[in-house]
Amino acid sequence: MVIQPKVRGFICTNAHPEGCAASVDNQIAFTQSQGERFAANANQPKNVLVIGCSTGYGLASRITAAYGYGAKTLGICFEKAPTERKTGTAGWYNTAAFHERAHADGMYAKTLNGDAFSNELKAQAIEAIKADLGKVDLVVYSLASPRRADPVSGTVFKSTLKPVGQAYTTKTYDTDKDLIHTVELEPANEQEIHDTVKVMGGEDWELWLDALADAGCLAEGCETTAYTYIGKELTWPIYGQATIGKAKEDLDRAAAAIRTKHAQLNVDAHVSSLKALVTQASSAIPVMPLYISLIYKVMKEEGTHEGCIEQIAGLFAERLYADNAETDETRRYRMDGKETNDATQAKIKALWDQVTQENFHELADYKGYHQDFLQLFGFAMDGVDYDADVDPIREWK
Ligand code: NAD
Repeated sequence: MVIQPKVRGFICTNAHPEGCAASVDNQIAFTQSQGERFAANANQPKNVLVIGCSTGYGLASRITAAYGYGAKTLGICFEKAPTERKTGTAGWYNTAAFHERAHADGMYAKTLNGDAFSNELKAQAIEAIKADLGKVDLVVYSLASPRRADPVSGTVFKSTLKPVGQAYTTKTYDTDKDLIHTVELEPANEQEIHDTVKVMGGEDWELWLDALADAGCLAEGCETTAYTYIGKELTWPIYGQATIGKAKEDLDRAAAAIRTKHAQLNVDAHVSSLKALVTQASSAIPVMPLYISLIYKVMKEEGTHEGCIEQIAGLFAERLYADNAETDETRRYRMDGKETNDATQAKIKALWDQVTQENFHELADYKGYHQDFLQLFGFAMDGVDYDADVDPIREWK
């Protein structure tokens, strides 16, 4: 099969196995090049559970744990396997490539594919931990999902990306049509806010920690972190102070609840705030593609641009596994300072005010945004022949 990108709206509906493998290789090579940063830490992760391990920040976390610290990794994700006629999802191919590399390098790697919100998947993970790892000493929670079935009632909750309190009219960028246009977003009602918190809030993170503790699978002093985006004024109306921001606030509540509930085991729970980046999750949020293509422009000029793997290397080396790591007033680890500082935000705001359809390609890093978007699906990678016939089937060995 010759595999070329099929972009539909904010998603690409296919993926390239060799391009995905090349992206995993690049992230492994970056991590290996940072060896000294990881070696400096006394307390190191050994047995790691990554919930949402196949793409974006979760994949970067898995690679950092394995290739930065030599940790065994158990991953959880929700991906589609390929068939002879249809490619698998990017997360499927990333996971196949990660397994192949980790096993070749003598490292344990296992992945469970299914609904992380369900009791069944939690039971399967516990079974695998008991059989293969004994206990886990780091749990990374990196899920991004538009819906969640409550494991007890079976009710399916859907998240909404809407402002809270009042309607909001703003510019946005349609990546598919290459068009800047105005969107008017109606405020969410109480039900929509509640449902978004159910999906993207901290409840499921807590349920994971409770299930692991009850099964005796949490090591003494276990670390756990869930990822958030806080941002600044430009994104607050649609993110920080919007439905998704309400869900993310609930992570702070959950972190405190986890620390209290599992104090006997000395479990340390932190929310980690990361920078805005092109991922499958962020491409779906109105405003974010425009905002991200502008911050790419500014941060590349400042020399502060980072991708998922660079952000997560910093999080592990300078926060999670550093002595006396700095936190903010809510005990969050902040890795977003290079994006959210006032000077950088002022430059982004100036571009934001000027940007129109006519000058977009000049003011924003349109090329960088598009390249990163295609690379999420294994396209636009150096060294991959996209005209070649490739077998779409890849297995997780
Ligand atoms: P992503 O879409 O790349 O990854 C989501 C992961 O969740 C994938 O591994 C997917 O398989 C898994 N997943 C989704 N639903 C699942 C389910 N029901 N069961 C099992 N696995 C499931 O997203 P991302 O951008 O890396 O986001 C990860 C976290 O980082 C999110 O909490 C997000 O809010 C946060 N974050 C993202 C950004 C950003 O700009 N992308 C910035 C800061 C924080």
